[in-house]
Amino acid sequence: MYDKSEAAFAAAKRVMPGGVNSPVRAFKAVGGTPFFASHGEGPYLYDIDGHRYVDYLLSWGPLIWGHAHPEIVAAVESAARRGTSFGVPTELETRMAEKVTQLMPSIEVVRMVNSGTEATMSALRLARAYTSRDCIVKFEGGYHGHADSLLVKAGSGVATFGLPNSPGVPRTTAETTLTLPYNDAEAVRALFARRGEDIAAVIVEPVAGNMGCILPEPGFLKTLREVTQAYGALLIFDEVMTGFRVALGGAQARFGITPDLTTLGKVIGAGLPVGAYGGRRDIMALVAPDGPMYQAGTLSGNPLAMAAGLRSLEMLEEAGPALYERLEAFGRRIVAAFTAAGQRRGVPVYGHAIGGMFGLFFREGPVRSFAEASSADAGRYARFFHAMLQNGVSLAPSQLEAGFLSAVHTERELALTEEAIERAMAAVV
Ligand code: PMP
Repeated sequence: MYDKSEAAFAAAKRVMPGGVNSPVRAFKAVGGTPFFASHGEGPYLYDIDGHRYVDYLLSWGPLIWGHAHPEIVAAVESAARRGTSFGVPTELETRMAEKVTQLMPSIEVVRMVNSGTEATMSALRLARAYTSRDCIVKFEGGYHGHADSLLVKAGSGVATFGLPNSPGVPRTTAETTLTLPYNDAEAVRALFARRGEDIAAVIVEPVAGNMGCILPEPGFLKTLREVTQAYGALLIFDEVMTGFRVALGGAQARFGITPDLTTLGKVIGAGLPVGAYGGRRDIMALVAPDGPMYQAGTLSGNPLAMAAGLRSLEMLEEAGPALYERLEAFGRRIVAAFTAAGQRRGVPVYGHAIGGMFGLFFREGPVRSFAEASSADAGRYARFFHAMLQNGVSLAPSQLEAGFLSAVHTERELALTEEAIERAMAAVV
């Protein structure tokens, strides 16, 4: 029943590595042939064989307004009619920057880029320029895009494929990346006591979303803030996934911690290719042309992307905190359905939900670190994933990824999802 997708995948594999433009799309962790998208509408994704799925992948997070939201489509259409790119400034970019600085507590000045990878890569360069130090600290299972410095003990597809340290990254670069277990405040203090003077920055996903969805333990983010401050290092919140998703002001608003720099992506572009980095004015003053740290982009601040992103942020602002409460309640009900179904069948399960993100694990709780997340039963997740697809629900094709919710998922989709979970759990016992 996946004839068209199978043919499409065979054709794709002849001309693209693994048949895909981003590794996790190839379904390697869960096996089988990836379905090829035909189109999306609201909370639903349709494949070229005619199946319909309630979509919790949502393009890996950007689509907080679901697929093809009329307001976003209209914004892109009207921008496209005026020209797709200019290479000179537009007022739209300023409006976008004003909106971002207004909504994100720590961002005084922001630079737009084209992806989350570019955002984190640039933020690291900036932190190194600002501190005149070389080392950075990241957490095991944290994924921050594929820049060389960050492909060390990384999460997401890198972890799914068991390639935590990619070949091609110079040894000297990898040596400047120090890694620690997520949620281990003691380890952070100990590392800074030894190497504090070498460390330019700590980069962290304030809610981890690339080793499943893992919440920060109480006090963890606060420790990062205090320790970095004490040693003159910068704190970078990678909010590519959490920005405008766990709260309007991101995880930094939700947990009340102010980082020095923040990276953004996904929701900020509403499904178009966008990233951003920003933060304290005195640090951002180093970015060219104001300062000497070079970073540029032919398509940065692209009018289609700005129009989509700005409209999306305006709509989120109009919806207000109630939207995030609704998303979280929805996520909790998915986790509750999952855990109840698991318990009924004697399958060890656990889950988290926060704002518009959730995580499902085939193991007992708690799950606080990459070590704990990666010990969950991957085979069971693979069977569950396929059974969910058969029951019309699309999840991430790896347990070491988060699930995403949109503002247009309703009780109807929740009911379909609860039924699918019940049936899929029976298939994994
Ligand atoms: N940071 C985080 C936290 C991410 O989740 C991702 C992508 N999943 C990235 C950075 C990289 O973003 P992109 O794929 O747009 O380069």
